[in-house]
Amino acid sequence: MFNNLSDKFEGALRKLSGKGKISESNVREAMEEVREALLEADVHYEVAESFCGNVLNKAVGAEVLDAVEPGQQMIKIVNDELIELLGGERSVDPETGQIIAPEHIMYVEPGPTVLMMSGLQGSGKTTTCGKLAGYLKKKGKSVMLCAADLQRPAAVTQLQVLTEQVEAEVEGTGSVQFYGEPDKVAAYGEAVGVAVDVCRNALKAAKREKVDVLILDTAGRLHIDEDLMGELRRVNAAVMPHQIFLVIDAMTGQDAVNSAKAFNDQLELDGVILTKFDSDTRGGAALSVKSVTGKPIRFIGVGEKLDNLEEFHADRIASRILG
Ligand code: GDP
Repeated sequence: MFNNLSDKFEGALRKLSGKGKISESNVREAMEEVREALLEADVHYEVAESFCGNVLNKAVGAEVLDAVEPGQQMIKIVNDELIELLGGERSVDPETGQIIAPEHIMYVEPGPTVLMMSGLQGSGKTTTCGKLAGYLKKKGKSVMLCAADLQRPAAVTQLQVLTEQVEAEVEGTGSVQFYGEPDKVAAYGEAVGVAVDVCRNALKAAKREKVDVLILDTAGRLHIDEDLMGELRRVNAAVMPHQIFLVIDAMTGQDAVNSAKAFNDQLELDGVILTKFDSDTRGGAALSVKSVTGKPIRFIGVGEKLDNLEEFHADRIASRILG
């Protein structure tokens, strides 16, 4: 991801860094190239416009044009703006002055911390539930994975198999167990109340077993529809998860961003998990989702294996783009 975008950014900025002094029109030209590169990468139009406008304003405002090494300053401005675009939250510890990284998961005490996973079919939601359980197991947490996608019988089995794989293959001091009621798999449209019951029962079981984190793998569909949203809203109201994550597929570009917006309007998401980051895709979803939805990316899926989940760090991705 980002290879093409990275080349284009480098080309535009190289022209500026080669100059001893740069004019406003040099910056405008470079930003025109950057804007085109962002649009080619499938970044939302308004997002690309505002990105370039912000860089231009900052460059002119910061008197970069009169600076000794204007090229270096431009790179810094673009880097900061990219971090902002990618949703980088950086707060400074008032006592130590150190930058505090964002929490990827907020744990509650006493547990269980309840995480609700939502997403369209094929986005990688169920696989991500397994990966997240592995991530938590490595951190020493006890986890319960609940199969609440009752529209697809295979989804329940898939999650059970993933649970067994995490237990067997991921090293860590934590543990992972499965909760499912496979006999309750229902026909399309009839599963709503059933999913709510299964999630409630899972929460009871998670409390009884004193697990640290309960992950709910909710239903996905090919498209957003009222049945799907109704089911998610009811599960949300019944178990009141502490955090709701939306899993989106980076390969679907702006469609992923649009679905994130639709989910967020209905569910008030806490964060996004972007899968298939390893694919050869243009990167538009990664660069637009925070601006369009207001919600940060918390994790990225970087492959099909169970340990292919990484915490998302906006500054690292910005450095990758700027090379
Ligand atoms: P769900 O329908 O949303 O539950 O999707 P699944 O979890 O079944 O995943 C759909 C497909 O995407 C599977 O073939 C997964 O192996 C694949 N997948 C999931 N996450 C990633 C990822 O980060 N990278 C790659 N390359 N493939 C992924």
